[in-house]
Amino acid sequence: MIYITAYKTFQFTKMKPPYCSICDKFIDQNDEGGLIYFKKRKSDIEWEKRMEREGMVGHPPYAAWFCKEHYQQAKKLSNLTINQAFEKIKE
Ligand SMILES: [Zn+2]
Repeated sequence: MIYITAYKTFQFTKMKPPYCSICDKFIDQNDEGGLIYFKKRKSDIEWEKRMEREGMVGHPPYAAWFCKEHYQQAKKLSNLTINQAFEKIKE
């Protein structure tokens, strides 16, 4: 049921529900985790321009949610692009 609700919310807003990108833990509002924006790749800049042009809102491809266990680690890597950062986190 929770899954269905989250899925519908996702469909409606086109935003990613807040699950940790590393361990899939649901991040609730009282958690100390959060959304981290990584360095934009060329494709991310193009994505932004396209969204702006079409007046759309969505989850940026260079942003990801992290639970409190992974948030600090991810934050330290936010000067990297999202794929570089994930390679390091998953090492
Ligand atoms: Zn996590």
